[in-house]
Amino acid sequence: VWNNCLKFIQDNIQEQAFKTWFLPIKAIELTDNALYIQVPSKFFYEWLEEHYVSILKVALTKALGAEAKLLYKIRMENTTGNKQPYTEQLPSANRSPVKTQELDIPIQNKDPELKNPFVIPGIRNVKIESQLNSNYSFDNFLEGDSNRLARSAGLAVANKPGGTSFNPLLIFGGVGLGKTHLAHAIGVEIKELHPEKTILYISAEVFTQQYVDSVRKKTRHDFIYFYQLIDVLIVDDIQFLSGKSGTQDVFFHIFNYLHQNGKQVILTSDKAPVDMQDIEQRLLSRFKWGLSAEIQHPDFDTRVKIVKSILFRDGVEMPEEIIEYVAKNVKSNVRELEGAIISLIAQSSFNKREVTLDLAKHVVEKFVKNVKREISIDYIQKVVSDYFQMDIETLCSKTRKRHIVQARQLAMFFAKKYTKSSLASIGSQIGDRDHATVLHACKTIDNLLETDKQFKKYYEDINKKFSL
Ligand code: ADP
Ligand code: MG
Repeated sequence: VWNNCLKFIQDNIQEQAFKTWFLPIKAIELTDNALYIQVPSKFFYEWLEEHYVSILKVALTKALGAEAKLLYKIRMENTTGNKQPYTEQLPSANRSPVKTQELDIPIQNKDPELKNPFVIPGIRNVKIESQLNSNYSFDNFLEGDSNRLARSAGLAVANKPGGTSFNPLLIFGGVGLGKTHLAHAIGVEIKELHPEKTILYISAEVFTQQYVDSVRKKTRHDFIYFYQLIDVLIVDDIQFLSGKSGTQDVFFHIFNYLHQNGKQVILTSDKAPVDMQDIEQRLLSRFKWGLSAEIQHPDFDTRVKIVKSILFRDGVEMPEEIIEYVAKNVKSNVRELEGAIISLIAQSSFNKREVTLDLAKHVVEKFVKNVKREISIDYIQKVVSDYFQMDIETLCSKTRKRHIVQARQLAMFFAKKYTKSSLASIGSQIGDRDHATVLHACKTIDNLLETDKQFKKYYEDINKKFSL
């Protein structure tokens, strides 16, 4: 019976689609008018139901008569992390087709720099560019206590992608500590050692944009199909998926598909899995299947090593004393350290000046200030609302609820402290208030800091995030 169905379907749909979606199906049982077929995953089932339900119905009716029924059995994993497959039985045809995910994703302001790294050219002849940056390698990823675990796990994965228990490999740590660098380095190394593998590096942000686009253009299945062709998937900054349940859902399917097929997944995040907010539990539990490796702040010795390697790369010499001065004072992260040293090199060559300790002091001071100035009102709103676990709309809303009012006033206070914006402009950005409201907010916070110990603790916690 099934073979007859297959033949009918084959004659009526594209060959590639037939191979992809119908050849993997196994017919397992026929009782009365009901045919049981086994499919590899729930996702597979949903796709069949969404795309091919009518042709299946016709094929079955032809083979079994008007009373024909189709039932699916799905090999799928148990969500507790136990990888023993079990089967789940699901009905077909009389259920309504699966609806496309409802979108909860605000359309991103598209950064013109952020080019879509590839187009999905339909189902045939997909060519995947890895999007790897070959400037990021293991060779120039200096090892220190702060990154040793992540680095060696990365090397292990690069040697045997999909073949270690580090799957997924999740690299987490604060900004500028080398997550993106290491993620690329792993990909670059795999390309070198296993040239036959299809590798893709993508930021979670671009992934989200592509997904949203695919929903809009009704090419969601091509999107998913594309990702299923990949042997090594590297997704950078997955914390970006928080709160975006549609994208999380599709990522969950892709992740499962890849994992089940022994493909390697590498993820980075600025938070440990336990601290990730608004990420579905089932995804978080997947992340824990492999290894989570933290990259910490580099210690002094590592900072010195990094400064020296930059100088070496640029062919610049500098007195030991100055190297140590910079390494000692710029400790927040590697990116700032690089920025400081490069700006020092630039200053000295531009002004044809010797690099003196005075110049170094001047540059480092200015550099650290520059970094402070980069804190934006948007960022402040995000940090404050995250801290109090509310969303930005709530923070800005008209409500008079005390804790929300205080959070909003605190955001205004930080905006005054860390940005150069006028009171009026702060007011208009944080909930459309006027400058008097902002002034009042700042006074209220000053008072609270003196009188309310608990509030002061909140303040200090949040303040740390700005003065790293
Ligand atoms: P993250 O993704 O964690 O924010 P990046 O990977 O972008 O950080 O790193 C910031 C900068 O610091 C990059 O230029 C990167 O090359 C450099 N960097 C980070 N860690 C190291 C390291 N261990 N050795 C050499 N350079 C590093
Ligand atoms: Mg990064």
